[in-house]
Amino acid sequence: MKKLLALSLAFSACFALAACEDEETPTPPVHEHSYASEWSKDADNHWHACTGTDCTEASDKAAHTWNDGEITTQPSASADGVKTFTCTVCTQTKTESVVYVPTPSEIWQNAFDNSKITNCTVRLEDPSNGTILYKVATIDGDRVVHLSNSSGMNYYLVYTADGKYVAYMKSGEDWTKQEFDQPISVFEMCSSYAAVCPNFGAYFTEFEYDEATGSYIFNGVEDVDELQTNDIMTTSTAKYYNAAVKIVDGKLVQVTSSMSGQNGKTDVVYFENYGMTVIELPTVD
Ligand SMILES: [Zn+2]
Ligand SMILES: [Zn+2]
Repeated sequence: MKKLLALSLAFSACFALAACEDEETPTPPVHEHSYASEWSKDADNHWHACTGTDCTEASDKAAHTWNDGEITTQPSASADGVKTFTCTVCTQTKTESVVYVPTPSEIWQNAFDNSKITNCTVRLEDPSNGTILYKVATIDGDRVVHLSNSSGMNYYLVYTADGKYVAYMKSGEDWTKQEFDQPISVFEMCSSYAAVCPNFGAYFTEFEYDEATGSYIFNGVEDVDELQTNDIMTTSTAKYYNAAVKIVDGKLVQVTSSMSGQNGKTDVVYFENYGMTVIELPTVD
């Protein structure tokens, strides 16, 4: 009997509790999501947001579907360009920078640009006259050239930033130093690497790129008669039968040229130590 009473008491307590809860927590009004027709978006996704106040439900949420993009700002030699991608679903856009790719002709012109050939050693291997070294470096803002060869030629020439010309020449065992307001002929000759290397910079169209050797090849002329009429590959001192120019990473690396004059020898010029060539001027008493 006692047991039954306890059970019935527990039942009524339970019932009382449930009834009490119902009274204190009214059923919330049912919210039916209603989604905007415009897309909401962030950098990665788009979605349709519920228009209900304080409702954060989203429908159709998905990552953007980027199109192939189009160049919206053309890259140039001086500035990167811009490629704009558009989401085909929600029209969100994103951009990427586009690096300028120089044309072969521009690569060629740059490689032969004397002002860019600095802190470099230009080494001419001449089968009949030995080695000529043309070193160029910058000392305190001045362009300095050291020209030497295997038979004793030895000049240091300074092209100062304020337009003076200073020559260091060897006289016996001693060095002398002379300053000029005007460039005497040795300064004119050495103002560019062309002092040791034929300057083919203006003749890009005469060369053809050869994939196998990574070189630009000139097979200009086959006989001397033809050479007489070919002024393209003729300099004041030599006429070239053919030539090969190697440019690596935009830098002139090697120029090989066969000449009709001087017993038809082949000269090879190497451009080395870009950015590393250092010149120390001689001490003058
Ligand atoms: Zn909602
Ligand atoms: Zn999108």
